[in-house]
Amino acid sequence: MRRVRAFFGGIHPNDNKQNTNSTPIKVLPAPAVVVVPLQQHAGREAKPLVAKGDDVLKGQLIAEAEGRISARVHSPVSGKVVAVEPRPSASGRPLTCVVIENDGEERWVEKEGHPDPVQLDAQTILQRIHGAGIVGMGGAGFPTAVKLAPPKEATIDYLLLNGCECEPYLTTDHRLMVEHAEEIVLGAKLMAKACGARKIIIGVEDNKPDAIAALREKAGAIEVAVLRTRYPQGGEKQLIQALTGREVPSGGLPFQAGCVVQNVGTAWAVAKALRDGEPLISRVVTVTGSAVAEPQNFLVPIGTPFKDLIEAAGGFAKTPGKVVAGGPMTGGAQFSLDVPVTKTIGGILAFAEGESTTPDSQPCIKCARCVDVCPANLLPLKLEAYGMNEQFDNAREYGALDCIECGCCTYICPSKRPLLHYIRFAKAEIIAREKRSS
Ligand code: SF4
Ligand code: SF4
Repeated sequence: MRRVRAFFGGIHPNDNKQNTNSTPIKVLPAPAVVVVPLQQHAGREAKPLVAKGDDVLKGQLIAEAEGRISARVHSPVSGKVVAVEPRPSASGRPLTCVVIENDGEERWVEKEGHPDPVQLDAQTILQRIHGAGIVGMGGAGFPTAVKLAPPKEATIDYLLLNGCECEPYLTTDHRLMVEHAEEIVLGAKLMAKACGARKIIIGVEDNKPDAIAALREKAGAIEVAVLRTRYPQGGEKQLIQALTGREVPSGGLPFQAGCVVQNVGTAWAVAKALRDGEPLISRVVTVTGSAVAEPQNFLVPIGTPFKDLIEAAGGFAKTPGKVVAGGPMTGGAQFSLDVPVTKTIGGILAFAEGESTTPDSQPCIKCARCVDVCPANLLPLKLEAYGMNEQFDNAREYGALDCIECGCCTYICPSKRPLLHYIRFAKAEIIAREKRSS
């Protein structure tokens, strides 16, 4: 077996995956009404192509990408558009959504698949990935076709597939690797062809031996590398460091280290789009946490409300104190269960009251634990102070923009300081100022 590798810094929290990592993915039927946001990706909101009263087919294009960094949106059901209007979203701000009443007939748009899509040329693969509205499904939501087309002068040596799923509680990628290894390997080959990568490596943490075995059975010449379980192993820069020994320069992007990094869930979506002709209209979501009666992994249409998933997981066994969209380290707390699942939401976590309190923070004792765990080699205690005191030039100079917002510093701090909160604040201010002055 290939040697187990890791990266600088990081933490090892209890992964709490035991409730769902052996639970097969269950397909949930589409709800009576789906609410489909037009911004489920990094970049500009897609432009709606339908209006109230229109009939739509399952898989039909309902919003076109706007500008270079954007992604198409398709209907997850057949039925009638009943509204195109702002609705609450898991991000905390209202987003324009296409609301569709499901007719339950599953009438599909004509599908353009290919029995052996690896035979397609690179340009056609890229066009079909763009056409299917595929975005990074690990959470960042960057449009996949854009990421696979770095500047012409860049040479891509590696396509790296992220199968780490290093956030505690989440098991969607784990179950996809166990149950859909063949499609993931196909998606990896297609993406490598699209970006011209010479070598593919799939990185999986060593707490998923069944996923490693399933991938190796289908991988052929593709390397499946075992990585030490450590958060945030799945961060792009951390994965590149662990798998290739290369470093992305400060403020730089993976292509500058000759790499393109994609998530295993994205690879699965790419295979389904090119082989079966299905756009990205559904995803796997882990529903778990101490307040959930029967934690499970569900394959659900995009636009399904959170409350339907909670109900399908047996409802709340205890009164929830906090519901989080995504993982516990980087996800966001929710104020409503009416918000819909999007292309980037891999988990809904509900924690019982008493497990979700905010501790009182104490003065910094200069122990440097936050420095030891920072995978970006930063000084989180300094960045926090600069953010708190609105000294944004100092925060920039000390590398605030290199912070990957992993939350390791906040997790480890014995004084319970809200380090990431102030670092995010500083980053947002720096970016806003730079936009204003450009
Ligand atoms: S400063 Fe940023 S990158 Fe470093 S540990 Fe904190 S959140 Fe992670
Ligand atoms: S871990 Fe907390 S207490 Fe220790 S140096 Fe960092 S901010 Fe200060």
